[in-house]
Amino acid sequence: MKPELDERYSRQVLFAGIGQEGQRRLLESNVAIVGCGATGSVLASLLARSGVGRLRIIDRDYVESSNLQRQTLFDEADAAQSLPKAIAACRKIAGFNSQIVVDPHVCDLIPENAEKLLGGVQLILDGTDNFETRYLVNDYAVKNSVPWIYAAAVHSYAITMNIVPGDTACLSCIFPASPGGAIETCDTAGILNSAVNLAASIAAAEAVKMLVGDKQQLRRTLLSYDLWRNERAEVFAGKPRLDCRTCGQREFVYLAGEGRPHITLCGRNSVQIHDRDRPIDLGHMSERLKLHGSVRHNEFVLKFWKEPFEMTLFADGRAIIKGTTDTAVARSLYARYVGS
Ligand SMILES: [Zn+2]
Repeated sequence: MKPELDERYSRQVLFAGIGQEGQRRLLESNVAIVGCGATGSVLASLLARSGVGRLRIIDRDYVESSNLQRQTLFDEADAAQSLPKAIAACRKIAGFNSQIVVDPHVCDLIPENAEKLLGGVQLILDGTDNFETRYLVNDYAVKNSVPWIYAAAVHSYAITMNIVPGDTACLSCIFPASPGGAIETCDTAGILNSAVNLAASIAAAEAVKMLVGDKQQLRRTLLSYDLWRNERAEVFAGKPRLDCRTCGQREFVYLAGEGRPHITLCGRNSVQIHDRDRPIDLGHMSERLKLHGSVRHNEFVLKFWKEPFEMTLFADGRAIIKGTTDTAVARSLYARYVGS
């Protein structure tokens, strides 16, 4: 190890569970973080500081002021610029660990790009806010035998589980169907930032165990912990289930994109239009939209205000339309102002 690296990681090399060999393995590892909001930004920060050599950060969203209470990688300047979270995260990490490689992707993880975005990584971490993406990650992970760690936080509780295909139960073994409407989100139930940090800290510790190869110490339970009520629950996750559609019968319906709806984002009165995959010249679009409302853009996103709607358009053609939960209204706005 180079002398400056020796110094940087000295305190965790001293930790017996990691040591010189574990640190070398961390520096050689390649990890994807899907979603870089609250949980994702803590995961990214912890793993980048630990010296995970390559981090691929995938996020579809941009920074807003309501994120700053818990999304610890971001600041007011990021929110003022509506900077995509993947880009803002990459810049922040470069400021505290310039020796690792961060590969940001401003896009939505969908069946069509899952192989490309997740290919080549040895571990996938969950920083998403929705079950649809988690089932997609689970399909990819089981199909390709890549471990992943489910992690979520809402209200005052954290929940997490390690999924090692072939060895442990998968997400579908535990939740055969999406909890769907019954599940609360951070926008409907509110959230404690400490619950986010707890979920991400536990997941990051399990990630480090996997990356240094300490299989013995991996937790084999679905763990939840409520920080407000001081309640802890653990359910033994068990082995892959023969009757599980995903890992038992190997039917990867999410990866096949069956029945994929147009996503309504996390309770924010907004709809994402994501089935257009075409590059958009944001400068050119900005000139066009000026005639219809107020517009602002940078190299990554364009914001267009047309009362009562606010449209955020990304360079890959994706859009998030605020002010409605009606996909038909969102589609028609998109068609009218961006094109069909
Ligand atoms: Zn399963």
